[in-house]
Amino acid sequence: TMAHSKALLVLENFIGGKFVPCSSYIDSYNPSTGDVYCRVPDSGKEEVEAAVKAAKDAFPIWSSKSPLERSQILNKLADLIEHELEAFAQAESKDQGKTIKFARTVDIPRAVYNFRFFASSILHHTTECTEMATMGCVHYTSRAPVGVAGLISPWNLPLYLLTWKIAPAIACGNTVVAKPSEMTSVTAWMMCKLLEKAGVPHGVVNVVFGTGAKAGEALVCHPDVPLISFTGSTLTAQRITEKSAPHCKRLSLELGGKNPAIVFDDADLTQCIPTTLRSSFANQGEICLCTSRIFVQRGIYSEFLKRFVAEAKKWKVGNPSDPTVDMGALISKEHLEKVRSYVKKAQAEGARVLCGEGVDSLALPTGNQKGYFMLPTIIAEVKDESCCMQEEIFGPVTCVVSFDTEEEVIGRANSVKYGLAATVWSSNVGRVHRVAQRLQSGLVWTNCWLVRDLNLPFGGMKASGIGREGAKDS
Ligand code: NAD
Repeated sequence: TMAHSKALLVLENFIGGKFVPCSSYIDSYNPSTGDVYCRVPDSGKEEVEAAVKAAKDAFPIWSSKSPLERSQILNKLADLIEHELEAFAQAESKDQGKTIKFARTVDIPRAVYNFRFFASSILHHTTECTEMATMGCVHYTSRAPVGVAGLISPWNLPLYLLTWKIAPAIACGNTVVAKPSEMTSVTAWMMCKLLEKAGVPHGVVNVVFGTGAKAGEALVCHPDVPLISFTGSTLTAQRITEKSAPHCKRLSLELGGKNPAIVFDDADLTQCIPTTLRSSFANQGEICLCTSRIFVQRGIYSEFLKRFVAEAKKWKVGNPSDPTVDMGALISKEHLEKVRSYVKKAQAEGARVLCGEGVDSLALPTGNQKGYFMLPTIIAEVKDESCCMQEEIFGPVTCVVSFDTEEEVIGRANSVKYGLAATVWSSNVGRVHRVAQRLQSGLVWTNCWLVRDLNLPFGGMKASGIGREGAKDS
């Protein structure tokens, strides 16, 4: 209705330091209620063209600033976001469906830290030099910004992942055109409101909102954008690779995963069980690093399952803004249906659903009846060839299977197309390192999950990505 539409939040593109309205808009839903609450610009070639031009014009001045000047601006921006942490967290939770608890403790603090980290890191970049004393020569390398960087980010950790790209790009003197996911654009727009106050010159950071097919592709195909840094699905990355090939663009691709957790019979289950619950279900299982295949050694398999399922049943699912809730809503109705369809396929194949979807009932508060919720779901006795063990589900569904030997489990863990992250649980130090070395995975955690120093290179093997992000790697 008209009355209803008046209350909608309407976003605008941010180009050359100004908010610019767009000629058409996309509806954005609140995943925890199912209501349209926001309108996002449906940008295309024209808007991308204007943003690239603004970024190109800003490049000569921005790239000639000293690292210290840029560092101070990044720190100021971090302070300004931190000052509004609660407002950002509320907005992220409403837009994405994630719990307010997660947005407050993970998403927004990390977005702040991304700027602080690169503000500091840029001051310590050094280059290589070698001397050819006998020739009286010195060789050295120098690092230079590339120009306008195109940054494309997904919906699962909206501001967290977008700032993880913006911060290094501008710290190094590039200017950027960013395109957040059309499903989660609000916090990027809120950040734009702080750029001027932080001292970011006009045109250094431009944000164009819209779909991947229109706005994203216009950015990927633009001849004046020599670099695309993308985080999202493997399928989209293939399309980006094709579209950018004629321009020989530099690509950084952070993609999907099908991450295994390997639990040996000498694992400390008092640590392993709560951590593996988090690694399976945190942020509704919508983190690229989430565990979705759990291999448990035969001797402790039934004990593990019993305790794991009992703990999963204690997770509280519901209104994301309730600070006691552990799991919020999935991003969209379509995504919820897709995640559910995997559970049905597993059942049809003869696997056992031990808790969650289709087994337990979910009681939701009155205001959330139309939200996109499901319970943490654990499936056992799934075959390795099943799509549930091969494809990225990206929701609160995890498969548990048993294994006998170290050799066997390494082979089975590696038998998927992805290679992003893995977790190994054992109290045998030798085994932990031996297994980690042989897993085809960009990152291996042992006896922990999601602990990471941003200095380390981050990225995937196989279909999980190309390139690395982190300190100098970004
Ligand atoms: P997605 O690939 O559908 O979309 C990601 C972004 O790309 C969005 O902004 C989208 O609008 C844009 N896009 C879509 N089509 C495009 C095109 N043709 N050209 C240019 N841009 C296009 O992914 P998603 O569903 O938003 O995110 C979930 C995926 O992201 C999962 O696969 C997850 O594993 C992955 N992910 C990876 C990491 C990592 O660091 N490796 C981190 C988070 C998420």
